Amino acid sequence: MRGVVTLAAAFIIPADTPHREVLLLIALAVVGGTLFVQGLTLPWLTRRLDVPAPDPAKDALARATLLEQASQAGLSRLSEMDGDDPHGVCDLVRKRIDERNFAAWEQLGTVGGQESPSEAYARVRLAMLEAERERVLEVRSAGGAPSEVVSEVLAMLDIEETTITVAARDRERIRTSALRLDEASECPELLAQPATPTPPQPVCAECIAEGLSWVALRRCLDCGNIGCCDSSPGRHATAHFHATQHPVMQSAQPDEVWRWCYVHHLTA
Ligand SMILES: [Zn+2]
Ligand SMILES: [Zn+2]
Ligand SMILES: [Zn+2]
Repeated sequence: MRGVVTLAAAFIIPADTPHREVLLLIALAVVGGTLFVQGLTLPWLTRRLDVPAPDPAKDALARATLLEQASQAGLSRLSEMDGDDPHGVCDLVRKRIDERNFAAWEQLGTVGGQESPSEAYARVRLAMLEAERERVLEVRSAGGAPSEVVSEVLAMLDIEETTITVAARDRERIRTSALRLDEASECPELLAQPATPTPPQPVCAECIAEGLSWVALRRCLDCGNIGCCDSSPGRHATAHFHATQHPVMQSAQPDEVWRWCYVHHLTA
């Protein structure tokens, strides 16, 4: 649209106006100048200013870290609210918070070529939503429910479907972006233990011994122990922290160098 209004205004100048051609030339020069001069020099300018490009993987790590810290605050509020819980609501809340956080971590790397729990959830749930929507539409055609109720139920299904598809699309962008991290951190554990290269072909020995499979691997920077992440059924990396109090682990996924401090729930 840039320049259209300028040109349109120039062209409606009456034909008998003095210097009309000069005015048209000026309008054209202004439009051409703003389009080509600024447009073509913008990449050079951003390179000169060293403006960082958006990094979806870094944002995903920051999101998972922030969610983890928010959950700590939420869970300590939950533990303050003691009282009767005959319906097991507290356990349900804890489970849902875990699921939300695991899905955020799974947006980062998981075992290559293997479906993560949140990907499996998305696949299963999307198929179910399709069937649910078909059923609602059948009921609507048969006149079995008031139309406002049908629209309300369809809207609920749409919202859930949108949430799942947006998360899946983000996951693709995150996986294809190389993670760049800042070295700055306020956590003494993370400052004391810099990232080190992950050995080739890492495995969770405890999972192998117990016949379990894992979603992603974490390596202890104190002793080199490799355990599986919290999304995996074994949760051996966190168990290693509770057993040894070794505070810092690093992702053992290929090409991932982010570290996590169990004490402060911080990443770097
Ligand atoms: Zn720390
Ligand atoms: Zn394990
Ligand atoms: Zn350790």
